[in-house]
Amino acid sequence: MNDQVNSSRAPSHAERLLDAFRHFFPTARTVGSWIAGELVEGEGETVALYDAATGEATLSYRDGGAAHAAHAADVAPRAQRQWWALTHAARGRTMFAIAREIRAEQEAIAHLEALGSGKPIRDCRAEAAKVAEMFEYYGGWADKFYGDVIPVPTSHLNYTRREPAGTVLQITPWNAPVFTCGWQLAPAIAMGNAVLLKPSELTPFTSLAVAMLAERAGLPKGVINVLAGYGHTVAQAAIAHRAIAKVVFVGSPATGARIAEAAAKRVLPCVLELGGKSANVVFEDADLERAALNAQAAIFAGAGQSCVAGSRLLVQRSVYDRFVAMVAGGARQIRVGDPLDERTEVGPINNRRQFDHVMAMIARGVEGGATLAAGSATPVERGYFVSPTVLAGAHNAMDVARAEIFGPVVAAIPFDDEDEALAIANDTDFGLAGAVWTRDVGRAHRVAAQVNAGTFWINGYKTINVASPFGGYGLSGYGRSSGREALFEYTQTKSVWVETAREPATAFGYL
Ligand code: NAD
Repeated sequence: MNDQVNSSRAPSHAERLLDAFRHFFPTARTVGSWIAGELVEGEGETVALYDAATGEATLSYRDGGAAHAAHAADVAPRAQRQWWALTHAARGRTMFAIAREIRAEQEAIAHLEALGSGKPIRDCRAEAAKVAEMFEYYGGWADKFYGDVIPVPTSHLNYTRREPAGTVLQITPWNAPVFTCGWQLAPAIAMGNAVLLKPSELTPFTSLAVAMLAERAGLPKGVINVLAGYGHTVAQAAIAHRAIAKVVFVGSPATGARIAEAAAKRVLPCVLELGGKSANVVFEDADLERAALNAQAAIFAGAGQSCVAGSRLLVQRSVYDRFVAMVAGGARQIRVGDPLDERTEVGPINNRRQFDHVMAMIARGVEGGATLAAGSATPVERGYFVSPTVLAGAHNAMDVARAEIFGPVVAAIPFDDEDEALAIANDTDFGLAGAVWTRDVGRAHRVAAQVNAGTFWINGYKTINVASPFGGYGLSGYGRSSGREALFEYTQTKSVWVETAREPATAFGYL
């Protein structure tokens, strides 16, 4: 792209994006990988990026490929040993310093995220603040997660140590780039690991910024390395590298399966955070006003590009028509628009491929017999915008109720009673999240206990927090992120035996 901004015209998207990126990397010509504290341009295939709000070409960069994976995998283990050699308290202090850097740069991170991903600026601001919170939360854990002394029935002192996994590969998607980066980096770093982070090739910007800020805050170079490029090139090369001890993946089930397969060849443990098709179940006795507002936020926030989106709206038949009309009426009021406009509630879909998929699914829903209570099956002419869409009269066998759409499209399905609601809610391969709306406290807990999902809300939707464990059942993956449970994922247990007897017995066989 042309670096010379002509003052007589508004800067192009590419210029604005590069400008926002240069806030963090003043001499950058374009995106590269961040390895051992340097931004290194790749030499592989070109990755072409597009502005989601207009569909026009913006920056491009070269894939880091196997060369960047090998370079990062060479430096990370050394950096990891240096990082782990510090005291736990010192690591915690660095985590707090990283959180301060992120807070100080919150606005610049949000601006870069909005330009680079198409997410509304106000969402980006909130997500950048969450990243600071994540570093604080896990900074607190750095010196509070340790082993046990075990009362064994011999003369030994037996204790456990929680040791880092080593160098971890993290692979993340495009829907919440900075949030996901902080979500996985913070527990990994707090526990003394080094990381090779491979963000989506479509949204590498803010992960690079966070890595740079972490070093500015005092993290040794090489503890966080960010690999820019495609999954099948740079991520696969990293999985095959012997320095990698664990793989944590956030993305689609199909890619997750490919990654687990590649990892299995090296007997690498994985965490897979995959997709969802979550049921948001509304009973006739619910506070329908609140439930309708939350049902909109559940599916339309982030333009539905959220793994926990409430994409199946199950409504008791006695209130079905009224409730669906409330949700559809609300959907039509939602402000869809320019990601950088402060008033925008829903931005565009991140990329063309996903936009085409979402539009095709809407058309398939209509062909299958659902009616458009809100939204449109006609693609917009410019950009990747999709109107908040409510497919009324849907049933659970339809494609729109089975496949993850990952767009602002909800399938509204009627049910008659609790048993039928539970049967529909659990008639899915996924198991990421779900919710129930009712004033009957017994029913609320019964339903919460019986829906197969890693996260469940009663009279609410979508609250998640770094302190609370998060992960999936079934096709939604395995392993847990967030909370104390993430610390187990990023450490391994060593059992140490110390003989204390004056005249110890010699063990032939087990003592
Ligand atoms: P994706 O699976 O296409 O890509 C995710 C990441 O995997 C990207 O970094 C990509 O480059 C990489 N990748 C792609 N092919 C690869 C390969 N062959 N080998 C190694 N890496 C590869 O997912 P996406 O389209 O970017 O994101 C959308 C999906 O992510 C949805 O299914 C969504 O539900 C899921 N998601 C899940 C969670 C969760 O926590 N459960 C959170 C956010 C998104």
